[in-house]
Amino acid sequence: MATLPIVRLGHPALRTPAEPLPASRLATPEMQRLIDDMIEAMRDAEGVGLAAPQVGAGLQLFVYEALDEENPAGSIPLRAVVNPMVEPLPGEMVYDWEGCLSIPDLRGLVPRHPQVRVRGLDRHGKRLDYVAAGFEARIVQHEFDHLNGVVFLDRMRDLHSLAFYDEWEEYLRESDGSSSADRPE
Ligand SMILES: [Zn+2]
Repeated sequence: MATLPIVRLGHPALRTPAEPLPASRLATPEMQRLIDDMIEAMRDAEGVGLAAPQVGAGLQLFVYEALDEENPAGSIPLRAVVNPMVEPLPGEMVYDWEGCLSIPDLRGLVPRHPQVRVRGLDRHGKRLDYVAAGFEARIVQHEFDHLNGVVFLDRMRDLHSLAFYDEWEEYLRESDGSSSADRPE
C-alpha cells in the first residue's frame, strides 16, 4: 500500500480551516484507515506530527509521536487528537527550532507557549483532557495551527533565523543545544 502523500506549501488545504469530525463519522472504517495512514505517513517521513490538512483532508484531526531511543523516558507516545481545543497555560513564550513536513528542508525559530491544555477526542471517540508541556506542547501548537490554516512561518517573529536544514545543522543547530528540529511536524 502506498503511503499517503503529504501536500506542500501552496496547496490550498494548508490554508483552509479544517471542519470538525462528527463522532459518528470518526467511527467509520474510512476514518480509522485515514488515521492509520496518517500515522504511517508521519513515521515514513520521520516526522513527529502530522495534521489531516497535510494529507489534503480538511478535518480537525492530527497525530503525533516523538520516540527518543537514547532517552526513552523523554519519549512522547503516539496520540491521535480529534476536534481539539488547545488553551495556552500561563508561562513565558519559549523559542525553539521547528520544521514542517509541508515546508520541506526549512527550519526556523518559533515562539510557543510552554504548556497547553488539550481537550478533544481520541480516535475511538473517548474524551481527552490533558496538559502538554515542553516539546509536546510545541508539537500540539504546531499541529493545531495546521487545523486553522496556519503554518510555522506565520508564527515566526523574525525571519532572520530561517535556514535550510544542512545550513541549520552546520551553523545554527548548536546555538541553543536543541535537536528537536531534526524531525519536522
Ligand atoms: Zn507542519
